[in-house]
Amino acid sequence: MIKRVIPLLDLRHIQRSASFPKAASAVVPASGHLLDARQRPLRDLRISVTDRCNFRCAYCMPKEVFDKHYRYLPHSAMLSFEEIVRLAGLFVAHGVGKIRLTGGEPLLRKNIEQLIAQLHQLRQPNGQPLDITLTTNGSLLARKAKALRQAGLSRLTVSLDSLDDAIFRRMNDVDFPVAQVLAGLDAAQAAGFADIKVNMVVKRSTNVADIVPMARHFRGSGMTLRFIEYMDVGATNGWRMDEVLPSAEVLRLIAEAFPLVPLEPSAPGETAQRWGYADAQGNYDPQLGEVGVISSVTQAFCSTCNRARLSTEGQLYLCLFAHQGWDLRSLLRNGSSDEEMSAAIAGIWGQRQDRYSELRAEQMAQGGSGEAASDGTTPPGRKRIEMSYIGG
Ligand code: SF4
Repeated sequence: MIKRVIPLLDLRHIQRSASFPKAASAVVPASGHLLDARQRPLRDLRISVTDRCNFRCAYCMPKEVFDKHYRYLPHSAMLSFEEIVRLAGLFVAHGVGKIRLTGGEPLLRKNIEQLIAQLHQLRQPNGQPLDITLTTNGSLLARKAKALRQAGLSRLTVSLDSLDDAIFRRMNDVDFPVAQVLAGLDAAQAAGFADIKVNMVVKRSTNVADIVPMARHFRGSGMTLRFIEYMDVGATNGWRMDEVLPSAEVLRLIAEAFPLVPLEPSAPGETAQRWGYADAQGNYDPQLGEVGVISSVTQAFCSTCNRARLSTEGQLYLCLFAHQGWDLRSLLRNGSSDEEMSAAIAGIWGQRQDRYSELRAEQMAQGGSGEAASDGTTPPGRKRIEMSYIGG
């Protein structure tokens, strides 16, 4: 029994786990095609491998909350690599083809290459390997890129909110220099990672002036820059709508400098809207590359959302803005069979209604605050889970 002092702001345990949906009487083998209550297939699993991070980005892990008194998960509470791989195998049997490793900062998890190598052995029902990707703040990438690639990591997403060193240091709030993240990106390209995604969260009061310089820097670099609308994730980042710069405004600023043409989504359920850089004739030029916008606030994409999230301690969440999850770790550790856990996953996903961004938009259209519960069934005011706990 782990004794734990719960500091005032320890939000993880305010929400007790949801009770498991009644398991189907007969355990039905996984079909590789599991639909939720809105007919959205389960395709993408995000796994948070640590709740720790070496940055303190105010929109995710504000320093005043995640301070030196904040109690992180003890190692014994975290899923082991074996437990993660076992659960991942069950999700893959239900149709997951893409696994994204997140955190906190996933490269802080010791020997993460070993986890990637184990996940790399898994096969989809059609025999295809998994698309294994990872989101990092890039701080440790220069050192780790080669080993990650050799372990079987397919793709990388790196967060970078500005090229202006003073602004970047202020946004990560730990005085970390831009140069080291850029060195990590160079090392990742040298290690053989193609089409690296670079994610920039845009906050109206902080880094709007960096949008065009970032576009100029990554245009023609072989990497894809994506602009993310500032979101009301979790319960600690003090989000306000007037701090959101709509993606339409971001695209207008870029198009003034570099003409853009719309591109088709590259996969169902893709979160980013793609725009290609145009050549002098106005056609998409693959040499110049593309940019993306992720517009959870002004253009909700819940209707195609095929993502589930697993927290570091094995809670299953069905939406980035959820307020509670399902405790799969307890099933793992109380000796449940694969069939029983597979049935539990099917039951949970099958009843999924989550559509937080749509609800927020509907509420705001009616002059509301945008405060809503992800699945619309529970009164507003229940605290949303922290993004640093379930990954972006
Ligand atoms: S708000 Fe929730 S349901 Fe909607 S796209 Fe995001 S994670 Fe999916």
